Amino acid sequence: MQETTLSETLYRVAVAVAERDDLHDIVQVVTDESTAVLGAEFGAFFYNVIDRDGESYSLYTISGVPRSRFEKFPMPRNTDVFRPTFEGSGPVRMDDVTTDPRFGHNEPYYGMPAGHLPVRSYLAASVFSPKGDVVGGLFFGHAQVGVFTEEHERIAEGIAVHAGLAIQKARLLEAERSARAEAEARADAAIALEFVEDGVVMVDQHGIVRLWNRAAESITGLRSQNVLGRAIGAAVAGWERVALAIPVGDDTGSTTPATLPLDTLRRGEVWLSIYGIAFAGGTVYAFRDVTGQRQLESLRSDVIATVSHELRTPIAAVYGAVQTLRGRTLDPSMADVLLDMIDTESVRLASLVEEILLTSQIDSERLQLERARVDPETVIRAAASTVGDGTLSVEVAAETPPACGDPEKVRQVVTNLVENAVKYAGAPVTVRARAVRDAVRFEVSDTGPGIARSEQQRIFEKFYRLDPHMREGVRGTGLGLYICRELVHRMQGRIGVESTEGRGSTFWFELPRY
Ligand code: ADP
Repeated sequence: MQETTLSETLYRVAVAVAERDDLHDIVQVVTDESTAVLGAEFGAFFYNVIDRDGESYSLYTISGVPRSRFEKFPMPRNTDVFRPTFEGSGPVRMDDVTTDPRFGHNEPYYGMPAGHLPVRSYLAASVFSPKGDVVGGLFFGHAQVGVFTEEHERIAEGIAVHAGLAIQKARLLEAERSARAEAEARADAAIALEFVEDGVVMVDQHGIVRLWNRAAESITGLRSQNVLGRAIGAAVAGWERVALAIPVGDDTGSTTPATLPLDTLRRGEVWLSIYGIAFAGGTVYAFRDVTGQRQLESLRSDVIATVSHELRTPIAAVYGAVQTLRGRTLDPSMADVLLDMIDTESVRLASLVEEILLTSQIDSERLQLERARVDPETVIRAAASTVGDGTLSVEVAAETPPACGDPEKVRQVVTNLVENAVKYAGAPVTVRARAVRDAVRFEVSDTGPGIARSEQQRIFEKFYRLDPHMREGVRGTGLGLYICRELVHRMQGRIGVESTEGRGSTFWFELPRY
């Protein structure tokens, strides 16, 4: 072969390789070009690839014959013929492989399997990586004897050098591509995490915060720029105190979150349902804010305690009175006192049960309200009769028009407000009614302790009491004003309070005119 042909071939291979990025394409070009220039009937290139998990396996390209001719045969093994090539111990050239002493010693075929290409001339060269490892082998065959010369051997070696560099290049490109893809996937994941409702935080093996998503910001009140790149213990006040109690699992199973309080500077105590997952690079924590839920739970148990206490007290009183009445002969005045007590406590009990029932009707939207004519004077008088004489003064302005609503429910609202005034403020209590714009306004005023501005909205919430543990000794469930608000709203009215601490309160509501 001419030197020009050789160098031309090597040049062509080099250009073809340089133009391609894909490992398989490169290897195919090398195989095709080398098979052609060597005048081989068929050529094959076996090469090792390493997959994403670091596993190495062999692929091959074929030239000169359809791939199907090879597919039923196993990969070349470490036989005497192939071993030198895979070990990198120089090219192997045989004029007639079938008569070569290295041929035909191995199970199961002792030579070429039936249906194999009719190889007589054989030439093989190892392909090295730039570091000197064998990354594959080029193999050529011909059906004729003595086709490959020493020069062919040199060409094969020359091409093998290019092939080694080409594979290296393709691998580097592939590594770069997958690194880029991984970086993009990470960036996508980081974007996705911004929209997750749970706080997601990643801390590396040195305890440095690497990720702090938007939900983590809003739950803790800490901006990511103040946390990222810092030690979590230093960046997140209160973290060290909860860190040890956070259940941290690995990625093999589910971890049950723990509910823990975190002291935040901006939001005070925040309850988190939190768990962590440890991985090679650190720990990922996921958490959600369960502060509201916890408050509700503690409110619920407070409520159960309050309601049962409220029910038990009158029952005990009635029971005690009955026992006393039964036990002995009492003088009639004592018996009257006890009977009165039974009377009051039974009424209290009934109204308590009524309150609870009404609340549940309101909550389940089962309450039916009339839209009828409500005479303010009548309603106020009826309400006044439930509290003792002399406590209450009633001022109904002349020509106060009738209101529109459910008379029984309006009476209930006025009664509630009056009873509260008596309970929390004591006499004097004034109940007024008058016309305002297109409505009728009712007011219940007292000169008691008043209500702080910050509490004036909340007292209308269900179960809300200023003194939830009844330290002041005034009993109640926190349902009264909630019921008032709901009833008034359902009658298309408005309700509110005007109050100055220490000076008394005026609870008011307005109903549409009839
Ligand atoms: P309850 O009286 O059963 O506690 P309410 O819903 O009727 O429940 O009232 C809620 C809270 O509002 C009371 O616990 C009390 O602290 C406050 N409150 C109601 N009325 C008055 C009032 N006239 N003066 C001062 N505080 C009041």
